[in-house]
This record gives sequence, structure tokens and C-alpha cells, in this order.
Amino acid sequence: MTKNEVLKKYFGYDSFREGQEELIDAILSGQDALGIMPTGAGKSLCYQVPAMMLPGITIVISPLISLMKDQVGALNQAGIPAVFFNSSLSQYEYFDAMERAKAGEYRIIYVAPERLEIDSFLQIAAECEISFVAVDEAHCVSQWGQDFRPSYLKIHRFIASLPNRPVVGAFTATATKRVRDDIINLLHLISPKSLVTGFDRPNLYFETHQGIPKTDFILKYVKSHPNQSGIIYCISRKQVERICSALCEAGYSATRYHAGLSAEERRRNQDEFIYGEKLIMVATNAFGMGIDKSDVRFVIHHGMPKSLEAYYQEAGRAGRDGLRSDCILLYSSQDVRTNQFLIDQNNGNPDLSQAEQEEIRAKELERLKLMTFYATTTDCLRDYILKYFGESGCGKCNNCSNCLTQCEEIDVTIEARRLVACVATTKQKCNQSMLFDFVRGQTNSKLEMFHLMDKKGYGCLKDVSVKRLREILNYLLSSGYLKKGEYNCLLFTEKTRDILSETVVIKSRKESEKPKSVKDKKSAKVAPADENLDLFELLRQKRAELAKAEKMPPYIIFSDKTLHEMASKMPLTEKDFLDLSGVGAHKCEKYSGEFIPIIKGFVLNKW
Ligand code: ADP
Ligand code: MG
Repeated sequence: MTKNEVLKKYFGYDSFREGQEELIDAILSGQDALGIMPTGAGKSLCYQVPAMMLPGITIVISPLISLMKDQVGALNQAGIPAVFFNSSLSQYEYFDAMERAKAGEYRIIYVAPERLEIDSFLQIAAECEISFVAVDEAHCVSQWGQDFRPSYLKIHRFIASLPNRPVVGAFTATATKRVRDDIINLLHLISPKSLVTGFDRPNLYFETHQGIPKTDFILKYVKSHPNQSGIIYCISRKQVERICSALCEAGYSATRYHAGLSAEERRRNQDEFIYGEKLIMVATNAFGMGIDKSDVRFVIHHGMPKSLEAYYQEAGRAGRDGLRSDCILLYSSQDVRTNQFLIDQNNGNPDLSQAEQEEIRAKELERLKLMTFYATTTDCLRDYILKYFGESGCGKCNNCSNCLTQCEEIDVTIEARRLVACVATTKQKCNQSMLFDFVRGQTNSKLEMFHLMDKKGYGCLKDVSVKRLREILNYLLSSGYLKKGEYNCLLFTEKTRDILSETVVIKSRKESEKPKSVKDKKSAKVAPADENLDLFELLRQKRAELAKAEKMPPYIIFSDKTLHEMASKMPLTEKDFLDLSGVGAHKCEKYSGEFIPIIKGFVLNKW
């Protein structure tokens, strides 16, 4: 079989996505490979397709039990003999699977890295023909990544212990050079084919809001997006509890996840979400690593995370199936203070010196600042993200709230100069709120204490709203005319002087415009225009029923994308059914008999 035939027969897809083919070709030709692609880009296929074409067995090393279970479930659904070895198996299951592995019944074996040190597994490995080892989430090998796993460091020894060195492939979404170099060095990759695809996720729609009532927004949003699955991230456990209760009281299907719950409840809640019994997950950032649920239609951040890396990773859990999904950030200035507090609380690594810890803290504060600019910018959000990750940016994407909201350009040179002058008058001792009180001529005990209320400039911007002042100050900070120092005092930079010779234009959302109403956005539907929503609902119910019977998450049976296509093309024969994207030979045989009668019934009823 050719790689395209494998793609069609087992996975039901007609073409490869960006980067997949190059990596697969390299692996098939015996070259090691390093694939760096964003979440949802399709890294798994890069090792699953070669696994079906190479002789013998492919070992996939993956850090999380939940992830393995899902992937193996999906492979079995596709008709590919695969299994996982990890601590969740009973003794009997483990030995049974080992026997079958020895008998050559599997093409793909998933293992956690810890397994590579266990004798019984090493024995089997030595007896089998292992032609390919794929390391998923390969950034776990690096101490510089967020998810360092010491047992990843032993992978190379396992590979070296095999009678014949297999081809090795490594896959991750983390793109920094340091992590990339670590992967190549620590896994001992031999002149690998390295491939980095773009970080853009065109199907994600980005939106930000500042200073709006967050709970109201969330309740309205879920009301206007019925039957859609989503994640709501909160900064604290308390907020998780609050939002989850608010949703449940309003009758929505929501569950929760944070480190304060028992392991048992966390597992149960996570399963309910993944299996589609609960639609909405309200969680802290403890939730999500290894969640492969492909039909997450929205990720709302109730609070701002501490960096854009964290934000993009969490928001990126939306829309893995390639369908349009929303990533919404609700920002309030309190979020900055909370994050600063968290950064200060983090006592860091005791192995590092005082100076190193201070450096790390400074970097974290810098990242927080750049995250805050994302939350408050009026420029294209996607462009901001791509540039942040070192890409050239996209200009105006027309698929984010800033591109779709009209902004007006306002000349605020005079206001900006006055603000800067007042930073001087107050001897760079004011934070934002003190400075605003000063320029607006408000009474404030701190201003009194420092005898600032009789200084020149007091009340010089009394007619300017706080909102506008905030926009101007954000501009001054993000353009480097001012910076924040200790206690958030506003300080001069080398650039401050330039403000006297430059014109300052800010873009501001038009006052008349409400935050993008939820109604507008519904027009950009997930479903194709000619689709029949009643039929979709019937198909969805069928899928839920099958999922329950097979104890599988629904999206592993068919993705939403496949189901939408089914509802729009209405296949009545097996041949047409097989043409749907995401339907391979095995799934067609297994499920066409379940879905076609529903479509027939629907068509007959209608005409
Ligand atoms: P990653 O591991 O890179 O985050 P996955 O491997 O989980 O992404 O793939 C994400 C989704 O994209 C899955 O639902 C997968 O079936 C789908 N997918 C992957 N490759 C293709 C392709 N060539 N055509 C259509 N869908 C694909
Ligand atoms: Mg993956």
C-alpha cells in the first residue's frame, strides 16, 4: 500500500496536511525525523502512517496514560491493531498483551517512558522486530520545557539496547531552539529531517474583552452556543467553583477540575467531559495536558494566564478537528496583579542561585507584560500571536475580534505628553492608579501624603475618561516610552524623550460599539450552509448511543467534521459513505449500517 492508500483506507482522509508527507517520507526512507507542529496539526499521523508501512512493530512513547488510551481506542476503531502498556493494565491484561505482542499481533505499541526500564518489557522488545520508535510530546526530554519528565532521558539507552537500531522520530508543539536542540541531543537523533510548520491555526477565532462582567458574558455565550462543548479556564480554584456552580444552577451541563479535588473526582469529571456526558469543563490550568478531545468548540479564559505560551497552549485545545472554534480571553486588570502574586510566590528551584532565580522572575514578568498587551491591543490578535512566536505575522487576519471590530484612530499626542510630564512631576513614584488620580484631579490619600495635589499638572487631564487614559498608557508601555518598575511605579526609558517629537495615534474601539455581540458571531457557523441541522442532531444522537455502548468518546467514532459532512451530503450507499472525510474502510464497514438508515429515514420523511 502507498502512504496515500494507508491514509484513505485507515483514516479516511484524502490528502496530507502541511508537513506530514515530508516527515513520513523521511521516516520511510530510514532517516530520523523531528516534527514541530502546533497542537491539532496532525502529528500522530506522521508516525501512524509509517507504522502501517514498515515491517514489524512501531513503539510510540507517550507521557500520559489518558492520551494513550484515547489514541489506541482511535486506532482500533480505524482497524489498526494497537495496544498500550502502562500501569493502568491489570496483571492479566498486561501478560495477555505481551503474549500477543510476541506473536506479532500488533503494529503499534504505546508505552509510557517508565516502561522502558522494566525487564519484562525489555525482553519482549528484544524478541520483536522494532523498526520505528516514535517519541510523542518529545519536549518532555528537556529541562527547559514546561513538562520535563526525567524518564524521557532514558529513551536513548532503550533504543541503543535494541539488536537493530530502529528509525527514531520525535514530535512536539514546543518550538524554542533550546528545546529543539535538547531533543536532538538527548534522544541521540542521527541527522534528523527537521520540519517546523507554521504556528497559525486558521480555524481558531480569537477574541478579547476588557473590563466586562465575566460571569454574565459566559452565561450569555453558552446560551447562544447550545450543544457545544468547551473549556472555561479560571486562575483560581475558587473561581472554578463559582463559575461551575453558576452554570449548573442555570441548567447547563458543566463539570469542574482543579488540584483541590480528589484524584478520583478529577478522573471522573475529566471522563464525563471527554465522553460527552458533560459539555462544559470549568478548570484551572491543571486541566488539559494530554486531552485530545477534538470537538472542543470554545475555550474561554475567565482570567488571563501568565504568558502567551500558556495561553496559546490552552486556547489551542479548541478546534483540533479543524472546524471553526472560539478562543476568548476575558481580561481585567486584577488578573495582572494575581499573576504577579503567583510569580512572586513561586519559590523556584532550590538548585538555582539567587541571581538565576531573579533572572527567571524577571523573564516571567516580561512574559506577563507581553500577555497583557495581547489582552489590551486593538491590533490583529493573530498577528500578535504569530509575531510573538517568531513568525513574520499575518497583518490583518479578519478572523479575530479586533479585525472585525471597527476601530477609530485618535491623535492623543497632547494627552500622552501630559501623562509623561506628570510621571516626571511625580518623580516616577506613581503607579497607574495614582497617576490617573493625579492627572484627573481626584483626591487620594497617597497623593495627599506625598503632597502631590498642589504640584503642576494636577488635574491636567480631568476631562479624559479612565478608559481612554488606560488605552494611552498601554500604548506608551507597549511602545517602550514608559516602563513599569518596582511596585508597578511608572518609570522613564531611553525612549521617553522621543515622545516630545513624535505624534501618538492610538486605535480605539468605537464607543458606540458594544463588545462583539454573541449574535453576530453565530453567523460564522461551524456547519456548512447547506447542512440540515435536524439530521445532524439525529446523527449526533446515534453517535452518542454507539459511543456509550462501546465506552468510547464520541469523537473517536466520528469527528464533528465527519458528522457535519454526513448531514450535508446525506450518503445513501456504502460507496458514498466511504467518500466522507474521516471514514476509512473499517469504520465504513462497522458504522455505515448504523447511520445510513437514519439518513434514509430522514430523506423519506422529508420528501
Ligand atoms: P497533534 O498531535 O498534532 O496535536 P493530532 O494528531 O491529534 O494532532 O490530530 C488532530 C486532528 O487532525 C485529528 O482529529 C486527526 O484525525 C486530524 N487529522 C490529522 N491529519 C489529517 C489529514 N491529513 N486530513 C484530515 N484530518 C487530519
Ligand atoms: Mg498529539
